[in-house]
Amino acid sequence: MYIGGKKIDIIIQTEPEQIFHGVHELVRMAFPQFNIKMGGEDAECPNRIFLQGRVEEKALCLYGSIQVDGKRTEDRQNCPLTEETAASGSKRWLARAFAYRLLCRHCGSGLNDYGLLTGVRPVKLVHRMLDRGLGQAQIMRELQQKYLITASRARLLMEVAYNNRSYLEESAAHHLVSIYIGIPLCPSRCFYCSFPGAVLKSYPEQVEPYVRALGQEMDDIGKVLKELGLGVQTIYIGGGTPTVLADKDINTLFELLHEKYISSVTREITLEAGRPDTLSSRRMELFKKVGISRLCINPQTMNDVTLKRIGRQHNSRDVVAAVEWARQAGIDRINMDLIVGLPGEDQEDYNSTIAQALELKPENITLHTLAAKKGSDLARIEGLSWQKDDPIKAGLASMQAKLRDEGYQPYYLYRQKYMRTDAENTGYSLPGCFCRFNIQMIEERQTIIGIGGGAATKLIDSRGKITSLYNPTDSDSYCTAIPALVRRKVDNLRALN
Ligand code: SF4
Repeated sequence: MYIGGKKIDIIIQTEPEQIFHGVHELVRMAFPQFNIKMGGEDAECPNRIFLQGRVEEKALCLYGSIQVDGKRTEDRQNCPLTEETAASGSKRWLARAFAYRLLCRHCGSGLNDYGLLTGVRPVKLVHRMLDRGLGQAQIMRELQQKYLITASRARLLMEVAYNNRSYLEESAAHHLVSIYIGIPLCPSRCFYCSFPGAVLKSYPEQVEPYVRALGQEMDDIGKVLKELGLGVQTIYIGGGTPTVLADKDINTLFELLHEKYISSVTREITLEAGRPDTLSSRRMELFKKVGISRLCINPQTMNDVTLKRIGRQHNSRDVVAAVEWARQAGIDRINMDLIVGLPGEDQEDYNSTIAQALELKPENITLHTLAAKKGSDLARIEGLSWQKDDPIKAGLASMQAKLRDEGYQPYYLYRQKYMRTDAENTGYSLPGCFCRFNIQMIEERQTIIGIGGGAATKLIDSRGKITSLYNPTDSDSYCTAIPALVRRKVDNLRALN
């Protein structure tokens, strides 16, 4: 809600804080038009939420009141604590469920198809239940009753987990890692993007020192992988837009990959060629020659007016040409990213975009729900915040239905903050064409080593504990930090193996 162009506040107070950890995300969904503040004193602020939880005689006693928009709702609940629910993690879920139901009562409707889940990787929860030996019916029950997820979303999460589980087991059985290589440069800035990479202005000044530093990091990490006997299962070159690299630099990158990373256990090498304006028929032949097996050609939408509006420098005909060149060059796995909810688009656009994408017969289509991410130009537009029952959800559902009709299966799924509705991003694939890297990246059961500017490394130990390390995104900081970045990564890798 805005007064004088400024969002007005809701102040949340919780006692104790730990038990209501993450509750502000639920409040943000209930009141997307407000600015949510945790704690703080502001006697003038008329909008307040108070949540309290105390353990008394083997029960968690919860109290909550919501005073927002001139309306007051309050409730209390005593939850008996069993041996199972007395653990602090379980008490948090009880407290969160209480807060969620109170918010629903105040708003007069459900808040979110994902119920209490506010994290970005909801399928992990299903995998943990499968690890515990739960069957399908028990998992459905727990997702709906404990986490308050709707039946349709619970079914989707289960389907994704069942589709990708064998890929997790396959990786765990061998000494395998995956590699992410980041190229944090783009030809121009897309309207919805919050990635802090740079726009390419001068190749000699921005790219050449970067490629030298990248080569250094690849060389050092490659030696350690060999020494530790780690095989590289998948490689993903992302960004930014890695196809801004000139042919000579693509060749240099792949010489190093073939020398130190690619072996008989390498199953997949993906290149993000997200911007068709960086592609040509000749470049596709180069990509095939160096060994790329999967290419992402990402139109986002096939509506040319929208493409211009969101800052892309290509049109839908360029996308069609890029796919044709890739096929002629012999690249047999193509992914296309599409976004639902771009400003100005409606059901007609969604129908047209999915129909045109399907005509090109890509093996993978990834459906994204637009997120107004902090730092993007899009986030500065008022009224593009989270909305329940937005037409975006209907658009997404119709596109998902068309994909299923054509035989595509959902195989990985994640959520983002600041999505425009309570939906998700889902990778769909023709059977047998799942992208292994995407599965490993989202389910976090395989070590992924990030190399290059903005790349994240996730080291997974034998008990599933994750250690995250991040490279700086800014090229200059990355180039000067190489020795320290490599040392830190190598020390952690050695400790793991
Ligand atoms: S191409 Fe990708 S990384 Fe680059 S600005 Fe657009 S969305 Fe962001």
